[in-house]
Amino acid sequence: MKGFAMLGIGQTGWIEKPEPEIGPLDALVKPISLAPCTSDIHTVWEGAIGDRHDMILGHESAGEIVKVGELVKDFKVGDRVLVPAITPDWSSLESQAGFPMHSGGMLAGWKFSNFKDGVFAEVFHVNDADANLALIPEGVDPVLAPMLSDMVTTGFHGVEQADVQFGDEVLVIGIGPVGLMSVAGANLRGAGKIYAVGTRPKCVEAAKYYGATDIISYKEGSISEQVLDLTNGKGVDRVIIAGGGVDTFEEAIKAMKPGAKIGNVNYLDGGDYVKIPRAEWGVGMGHKVISGGLTPGGRLRMEKLASLVSCGKLDISKLVTHKFYGLDKVEDALYLMKDKPADLIKPVVVVAEDL
Ligand code: NAD
Ligand code: ZN
Repeated sequence: MKGFAMLGIGQTGWIEKPEPEIGPLDALVKPISLAPCTSDIHTVWEGAIGDRHDMILGHESAGEIVKVGELVKDFKVGDRVLVPAITPDWSSLESQAGFPMHSGGMLAGWKFSNFKDGVFAEVFHVNDADANLALIPEGVDPVLAPMLSDMVTTGFHGVEQADVQFGDEVLVIGIGPVGLMSVAGANLRGAGKIYAVGTRPKCVEAAKYYGATDIISYKEGSISEQVLDLTNGKGVDRVIIAGGGVDTFEEAIKAMKPGAKIGNVNYLDGGDYVKIPRAEWGVGMGHKVISGGLTPGGRLRMEKLASLVSCGKLDISKLVTHKFYGLDKVEDALYLMKDKPADLIKPVVVVAEDL
C-alpha cells in the first residue's frame, strides 16, 4: 500500500509498505476523508515526538471498513466510520483509572503517526475497533467528519479541563481550529463573556460565530493587561490555552482570578520549562489551577460529539476553508498547513469518489 510519510525530521515523501495485519479485535479501514493537523507539522518539522523514519503521517480521518477481526461485534465491512485521533487500549490500567489517552504510558493512547503508521495511506489499522470506531450518523457530512477526530474533541477537552461553568468569564488563547472549538465548547457549556485571543481575520470571524464576545490581539500588547483592562482588574474564571508557547502560561496566570483554572491543550514544542509567575500565582497560594491534557479518544466520545453536530448544536463546516480531492493531494494539504496562509483554518482531503 501507498502512504505519505515522515522520512526523517524535516523530510516527507510517498512510500510503499505492506498492508497492516489485523488482530481479532481490530479493523482495517480505508480513508474516505482526511485532514492534516498542526501536530503533523510539529512532528515532521520540529521533531517534537523525536525522530521517526518512514512513518506514515496523519491521525484525522473518516473511513470505510475493509476488514474486521473475528472478535469485532458491532462493525462490518462497508461501514463508514468516525475514527478518533486517539485510539486507546481500553483494557489497560490507565484506561481503567480514567486516563485512556495515556493507555500504555504517557500519551501512548495516541498511536496514529506516533507509535504506528497513520491514516494518510490507502488503508490503516485501527486497534480495538468496537471501542474506538463509531458509525457516521445521519446529519454528519462525511467530508467534514475528520474535524471530530481531533479538533472538536481537543478543543472541548480544553473546556473540560478548565471546568467551565455557567456564566464564567473565559479566556481562550489561540484561535486556530482547536481554540475555535474551545470557544464553541465554552459557549455550549454556558460561559458568559468569552475573550478570544487571535489576529487572523478568518479566525476572528469564526471565533465570533462560535460565541466569542471580545477579541484580543496578542500582537498589540500583553494578553494579561488587555484582559485585566476588560475585566476591571479582576481577571477571568477560566483560561483555555490552544496556542502560543511556554511563555503563554505567564500571561494566563496573570489574567486569572484566584480560584481560576487553566485547561491547556496546546502542544508545547519548545523550551524546557513552563513559566509560572510567582507573585501572580499567589506566591504558591492563589488557588490558580493548571491542567493540561491530551484529548480522550474512543467510540463513546465520537458518538457524543457527533450527536452535537447531527442535532444542529455544533456547526463544524466553519472550520474547513480548503478542500482537496484524491489521496495524492494529502501532500499539498499538509504543506498548506505548514505554510498557513491567512485564509486557512483547516483543509480536508476528500478521498472517496462518491463524496
Ligand atoms: P494552530 O497553529 O492552527 O492554532 C494556534 C494559533 O495560535 C495560531 O493561529 C497562532 O497564530 C496562534 N498563536 C501563536 N502564538 C500565540 C500567542 N502568543 N497567543 C495567542 N495565540 C497565538 O493550531 P491548532 O490546530 O488550532 O492546534 C492548537 C494546538 O493544539 C497545537 O499546538 C496542536 O499541536 C495542539 N493539539 C493538541 C492536541 C491535544 O490532544 N492536546 C490535539 C491536537 C492538537
Ligand atoms: Zn490533529
